[in-house]
Amino acid sequence: MRVAVVTVGDELLSGDTVDTNASWLCDRLDDRGVSVERITTVPDRVADIARVVNEYRAEYDAVIVTGGVGPTHDDVTMDGVAAAFGRAVVPNEAAAAWIADHGDYSADDLTEGTTHLPEGARLLRNPEGVAPGAALESVYVLPGVPAEMKAMFETVAGEFTGERGYVEEVHTTEPESALIDRLDGVQERFDVSIGSYPGDSVRLKVIAADAATARDAADWLRERVDLATEVEQPEQGDGETGQ
Ligand code: AMP
Ligand code: MG
Repeated sequence: MRVAVVTVGDELLSGDTVDTNASWLCDRLDDRGVSVERITTVPDRVADIARVVNEYRAEYDAVIVTGGVGPTHDDVTMDGVAAAFGRAVVPNEAAAAWIADHGDYSADDLTEGTTHLPEGARLLRNPEGVAPGAALESVYVLPGVPAEMKAMFETVAGEFTGERGYVEEVHTTEPESALIDRLDGVQERFDVSIGSYPGDSVRLKVIAADAATARDAADWLRERVDLATEVEQPEQGDGETGQ
């Protein structure tokens, strides 16, 4: 499954807020074997949101949009997503009923617009807050508040699936520029893709469709590069990832 992530917010583009939602979503989707092929950040502007959502829903299996969800004047994401489908934003009965059942307030107490979603959207419940999310065909709209975004994503995580790859890591003290012959060599001999990430040492990420190929290719490299002794731990413990 190929997915695009769209983060919405003027504060992201001005550098006031670090876009942790995009990296968190990429990590979770990668865990599930889903390939994220775009991250795009757009301002809180209906036309910009609509244009990107429209382009990406045609290109990818799913689009996840976060931020700009709620009743305040600068929250226009639902309008942008609705515009991408040529639909109106209308009161959503399921959203109003859910809020009435799950809070200390009724929908009448909330700022107008809190329970309005694009016409025909499926309600996504917010386990951590008030603002509801929405799913419209392949487009998922999640809040921007990271705790709410994460909790809501987990309610639909099962809808994101893909082929999981196997990962082995090799850390070397050699500079990237010196490794080209070995990187070519391993890819000629094994059906793997290689990521190369320089830092204190160079981290080589060997990705294959099966565990044995990943291990054999990594062993081939380990015998041929100068290994780093002190290495950071890989971020994921289970040795599996998406490709
Ligand atoms: P919003 O949904 O745009 O009203 O954002 C609500 C809160 O979530 C604000 O404090 C934002 O700065 C924060 N937020 C929105 N989008 C992101 C993001 N992509 N990464 C991290 N925080 C975010
Ligand atoms: Mg915002």
